[in-house]
Amino acid sequence: MAFLTLKDIGKIYYSGSGAAVGIRGVNLAFDLGEVVAITGKSGSGKSTLLNVISGMDSYEEGELIIEGENTSHFGQREWETYRKEYVSFVFQDYNIIDSFTVLENVELALMNIEDKTERRSRALELIDRVGLLSHLHHKGSRLSGGQKQRTVIARALAKDSPIILADEPTGNLDSKTSKEIIELLCEVSRDKLLIIVTHDFSELEERATRHIRIFDGAVESDREIREAKKVSPTAKKEEAEKSASHKKTLKNGILLGRSIFKAKPKLSVFLSLLMIIGALGIFMLSTMCGGAASLFEPNYMFTPLDGRVIVTKRSGEVISAEEASALVENYGATDALRFDTLLDSAYDSSLYIAGTQDYNDVYVNAQFTFGEDFGECSIGRYPETADEVLLYLPISYKNDVGKDKLISDEVFYNEMPFKISGVKYYYDNNVTPKCLFTDEGFRTATALYFLTTSSRPSITVSVSGENFAEYSIQLSSFTPSFNIESDKIYLDSEKFSSIISQVGADYSVSVSLSATYYNYNYYYGDSTPKVFTKNFSRSDITDTKPSVSSIDRNQESFGLILSDELLCEIAESVLDKSYKQISLFFESQREAETAAEKLSENGYIAVSSYTTYEPDPLETIGNALLSLGVFFAWFIGIVFLAFFLSLCSSRVLGAFNGDMAVMRSMGIPVAVIKVGMYVRMLLSLIPSFIAVGIVAALIFVSPALNGFFVYMYAWQYALIFVGMIILTVRITHKQIKSLFSESVKKSLRGGEAK
Ligand code: ADP
Ligand code: MG
Repeated sequence: MAFLTLKDIGKIYYSGSGAAVGIRGVNLAFDLGEVVAITGKSGSGKSTLLNVISGMDSYEEGELIIEGENTSHFGQREWETYRKEYVSFVFQDYNIIDSFTVLENVELALMNIEDKTERRSRALELIDRVGLLSHLHHKGSRLSGGQKQRTVIARALAKDSPIILADEPTGNLDSKTSKEIIELLCEVSRDKLLIIVTHDFSELEERATRHIRIFDGAVESDREIREAKKVSPTAKKEEAEKSASHKKTLKNGILLGRSIFKAKPKLSVFLSLLMIIGALGIFMLSTMCGGAASLFEPNYMFTPLDGRVIVTKRSGEVISAEEASALVENYGATDALRFDTLLDSAYDSSLYIAGTQDYNDVYVNAQFTFGEDFGECSIGRYPETADEVLLYLPISYKNDVGKDKLISDEVFYNEMPFKISGVKYYYDNNVTPKCLFTDEGFRTATALYFLTTSSRPSITVSVSGENFAEYSIQLSSFTPSFNIESDKIYLDSEKFSSIISQVGADYSVSVSLSATYYNYNYYYGDSTPKVFTKNFSRSDITDTKPSVSSIDRNQESFGLILSDELLCEIAESVLDKSYKQISLFFESQREAETAAEKLSENGYIAVSSYTTYEPDPLETIGNALLSLGVFFAWFIGIVFLAFFLSLCSSRVLGAFNGDMAVMRSMGIPVAVIKVGMYVRMLLSLIPSFIAVGIVAALIFVSPALNGFFVYMYAWQYALIFVGMIILTVRITHKQIKSLFSESVKKSLRGGEAK
């Protein structure tokens, strides 16, 4: 039986206008050792015949039998294997990979040799055989036609396939070169089946063993010229070797991917740039739309703090100071704080850090806290006295607050200056800034909050003396100060100074400070006034104005300056009968949860501070819609980015299609080409990962950048990377699909058309 048999093979081309006969009723049998010349008029079907034999084109009628195996049932995959096993093709227009060097083109066909040095020496040997050693490192695009054809022949040799098909291999060459190429082809094809289509039979006259004439798609004549060498087919290659292992496919794919990546450096750089734009784009979009994350953040009713339990009585009665201390003792708490319902919000207050460069004040919306540990300070130390605070700030504040040394050592809260004892910077912009007080300082800040919010009690100062009637004045503002003794006050307004001077040192004077507070807390409907009164004698009124920097800074004159202790006294006194809520503090959140359960059993309503609630349905819906909107914007942004990247890169990748087709025609396994394409894309991703890494590192180094590119968690970076990988894999997948949906022949044409 013949090596290759064509039985009644027919191929019809259907196109828009109608059908054209490629070949019809072809019956031919070929054996190894034959040198077959095929001639015929242009359009007679010579190329079609060769394409069908090569497995690059399908046939509709008849049977093609190779080594006894009928190919009728072959699918795409089987044809790829067939091409890989049996066929090397030499085209008129060369089809080498222009961006590869001669060496690379040949090595590509030797991919199956695992050892690198062996592969190299084998390639050199073959290149030597076609006489191209001097052009080893010349790129395909720089070779002459004859040199290209030599490279192709070397490649065909590398493959060592039993069938070599050449479609007008000398069509574009001058006669001298043509002769050399034919010689070379016949030389290297000994023991193989060589089929050459030619327009000039004379060039093959001395070599051909057989001459087939094609006319109008059919075999017109088939003539033996001389006896062909008898060659018995070598044993079929081992099955195991035929279906290359996954490991080998992967290895060869990686090799191929690297070669493609390197072969077109400009395109690779462009692709990498695209990927950098993509990765940084996702990064920036995510930064800008960080707010969308709040969609998933619970809305806390109470300031959340580990170990904090909020307690009220079921009866709704006030909780006295005694009862609070009793609860601390009975439930093993470390501390108790009594809160007016309002006071919980004192936690989320604005601070301004004054006196920074050029008096550009910095505002921080900081949550007030105490007893927390943020780890080692960035500058200074933790607060020790009531007037000291530690600021817990995002790193983006570093330029405004201080790098190694504080720019301003004061921070103001409702005109009250606190000394900044230390700063702790953190990188996660999603964390709330905090202002850490000592327990005492926290009480002061809370009192201050209470006395200065809209519900503040009115403070009246009455002066009475021997020589004049009682004089009262309503004070619109007062200033607390840490620099005044607890039992003394300072009256600063001109009115007071004139009165005091009138009274003189010899006269007795008493000042009574009264603060009245109407608890118009609507939850309880309580409108009983709570009154605080304190009398001061002449000796309690200081003459020397305590230094209060906020006065110097902002106010011409303040009515009253009083100490932080007095401030707390007033606040606690007027609030004493309205504390319906207290907070107990425990060592750990676990202890807190247990205590909350016990308290609930004993007539209290007790919840951990991590209890959430919906403040207002409208607000909730509004926030949710806003978050959704932001999320949507982010999503649209990502989609546009992906679309843009996909469009640009598929344009770029299109430039590779020709090369891919050549590889396919060479019979490089599809799996290897696919792996190669993925590897190439992933290689072009690497610079974008590096870029993201650099930006991430810069965020740590430069505080200013942190305000622009937000700090992200490792998993968020991982998401960016995964997102980019998915995107590139999709792009590659799309390209592969469009590439392999065409037959090799068609994609080769597409390649030529570029
Ligand atoms: P040759 O190589 O002998 O010049 P071909 O094999 O290329 O001839 O073409 C044989 C016939 O098939 C011609 O009539 C040609 O027009 C037609 N043909 C070849 N390829 C196609 C195709 N892709 N689509 C439609 N018709 C085709
Ligand atoms: Mg042709």
